[in-house]
Amino acid sequence: MTIKIYNTLGRRKEELCPRKKGEISMYVCGLTVYNYMHIGNARTFINFDLIRRYLEFRGFNVVFVRNITDVDDKIIKRAAEEKTTPKAIAEKYEEAFKRDNKNLGIKEPTHEPRATETIPEMIGLVEKLIAAGLAYEVDGNVWFRVRDFKNYGQLSGRSLDDMRAGERVEPDPGKEDPMDFALWKRSKEGEPFWDSPWGDGRPGWHIECSAMSLKLLGAGFDIHGGAQDLIFPHHENEIAQSDGATGKRFVQYWMHGGLLKIDKEKMSKSLGNVMLVGDLVKQWSPNAVRMFMLSTHYRNPLDFTREGLVQGQANVERLERTIQSLDFALGLNLPVSQSKTLKLKEAANEARVRFILAMDDDFNSAEALAAIFGLIRETNSIIEGAEELPDDEALNKSRQILLEVTEALGLKCEPEANWLAIEVSLREVAARTIGTIPSGTSREGILGMLLSRREKARDNKEWEISDKIRDNLLEIGIEIEDTSAGPRWKLIKAQ
Ligand SMILES: [Zn+2]
Repeated sequence: MTIKIYNTLGRRKEELCPRKKGEISMYVCGLTVYNYMHIGNARTFINFDLIRRYLEFRGFNVVFVRNITDVDDKIIKRAAEEKTTPKAIAEKYEEAFKRDNKNLGIKEPTHEPRATETIPEMIGLVEKLIAAGLAYEVDGNVWFRVRDFKNYGQLSGRSLDDMRAGERVEPDPGKEDPMDFALWKRSKEGEPFWDSPWGDGRPGWHIECSAMSLKLLGAGFDIHGGAQDLIFPHHENEIAQSDGATGKRFVQYWMHGGLLKIDKEKMSKSLGNVMLVGDLVKQWSPNAVRMFMLSTHYRNPLDFTREGLVQGQANVERLERTIQSLDFALGLNLPVSQSKTLKLKEAANEARVRFILAMDDDFNSAEALAAIFGLIRETNSIIEGAEELPDDEALNKSRQILLEVTEALGLKCEPEANWLAIEVSLREVAARTIGTIPSGTSREGILGMLLSRREKARDNKEWEISDKIRDNLLEIGIEIEDTSAGPRWKLIKAQ
């Protein structure tokens, strides 16, 4: 089975053939640290965290680079607004960025270079471009000469004439062509600067990513990612600079994540609907956010709504309750049913195959979740309240596959922690209703004692006691239903 990736360069799905067997080299544009991370950024970083985790699940060693853009026009502007230095701004928002990533359950990159630590490499690239005739210096500014780079526009699919007509470009008297872009900028009074062959100055934004990715991954690395709004000009310019300076193909697969809207509107400062990750994670768990975001394919636009998050949270709870139900069933000594054993094993194997097929097809997380919830439905219908159960091997298989595939999506299901909470409550209920429980009694043992005490109470028409046991269990998330075949249990959301 092979993995297919939609390559923006060429606009089609291609088979993933890594440069080095068993290893994927991957670069994702990080944040320009002049502000807090908003949920649009969060979607991009969650998407690429998903892609990285899945590639690791498929056995690849993934070298994942995500940079910090810590010198840029926006940082300088923000420093002036906050009456501080660009360095202080970059440090403050870098720290916040790292905290937000952690709170979203995003894995740390293998390398996280800062632009300001890569200045010599940037100067080296600019020198190569000047030597190749692809760049020129005017008054301490160095510009990239776009008309001399063959295939400029290959990624965005635009011609230079379209670009000239459609783009707002910064006018500068030194430019040969309005589309030429800055590789190196002469520093103005009070701006950060570095010594260079063209005088004191600072790098342009695009050259930063070329230098950091080439330094850590080398030309021809596998995947370069970012949001769709980076295709032009940022990534187009990265290709021009990197191919131009090295003479080699820069990147094999260009991947771009879809944008996020809020209640069908664009998220923007002017609309006043920008939502920050810091506020989001106060209200919602990283699992709920991720479950919601992964219900849409990474390339499609995502409409961010409260209902979507509520649904995400409900789905996380369904998953966790199913794992708990499996744990619970594993502890019950009920008769084994061969047909149920076979059915559950088949459902588990089929779900895993469907999951991999979906994710191999350009990381279709929505389809992958459908496979997972198919198994959840099947598992619950087989085990809930049953008098006969599948054997332990089948129960364990369903449990293990559910945990394995959800972890590959970056969902942290912690059934054991939840069980511990239920177990503590269960002991309290038992102590209140039937008195002291011998130490060392398992949770299943305690529940068994509670159920038989309730049966006895019912036989003796002590309705108050039997109702109390039922109600107390319901409060901690165990529902008892009386049937002609005896009491049946079901784990539900605690009240
Ligand atoms: Zn970048």
